[in-house]
Amino acid sequence: MSLIIHGVVVDRKNDAVYEDLYINYAAEEIMVTKRESGGTVQTGLAEVPCFGPGCNHTILMTTQQKGDLLLSFDEKYNKTVLPTCGKSCTEKLLKMYRDSSAAAAKN
Ligand SMILES: [Zn+2]
Repeated sequence: MSLIIHGVVVDRKNDAVYEDLYINYAAEEIMVTKRESGGTVQTGLAEVPCFGPGCNHTILMTTQQKGDLLLSFDEKYNKTVLPTCGKSCTEKLLKMYRDSSAAAAKN
């Protein structure tokens, strides 16, 4: 599994969308858990759908991190991080946001 999480940051405060990368804590947790429990993977992990348009991949992350990216950042920084499965979905999602805000600006 990937050690990083690709994400598209929707920054409502600065009216911007951009790409960002996050460390995937789930990968680390799985390694630690496997070592400590002799193989069984623990709970506390969540599968989050990729937000890339038309993509049906999921991203494994800790429930804590899922909450941070999708909810806590919103409360703290007025930002939401939409996770994607990789670079190509990030680009599609960014394009979608940019096209729609360009269309909104014209009206
Ligand atoms: Zn994807």
